[in-house]
Amino acid sequence: MKFLCVECDKQMAFEERHLPGDGTLAAAFRCPACGRAVALLTNPMETQLVSSLGVKIGGTTVPAEPLQTIRGMVATGREDAFVDGGERATGNVPSWSAEAQDRLARVPGFVRGMVKKIYADYAKEHGIGEITPAVMDAARTELGLEGM
Ligand SMILES: [Zn+2]
Repeated sequence: MKFLCVECDKQMAFEERHLPGDGTLAAAFRCPACGRAVALLTNPMETQLVSSLGVKIGGTTVPAEPLQTIRGMVATGREDAFVDGGERATGNVPSWSAEAQDRLARVPGFVRGMVKKIYADYAKEHGIGEITPAVMDAARTELGLEGM
């Protein structure tokens, strides 16, 4: 993925990238000639799409690890790809009711880990110990994830 400064007809240089834990991706590019900057902001599904296509935002200047994590999850469907060891060790992770697990099981495997983490983070932020379909509905509404 490249951006071209139309004014200067120069390829914009990758400047910075943020990959917060919620799966959104923000990347900035700047024209080396005139300094004009553009930023790219994607939601988790779009980030997933970009990553699954093997596109490395900004090319080789970006540390590979965060995107590789997502790509690895895409390839393997590992549900815990986003859960780091430290988080698991705390025992602080909300549990899932049987109904919620059924519902999660209907999420396509390649995004399940990300979706699961979004709900788990939501539950943690709200001090919810068990994720139920009602919690999932509330999270979807509050986070604007109607499509998930
Ligand atoms: Zn320019």
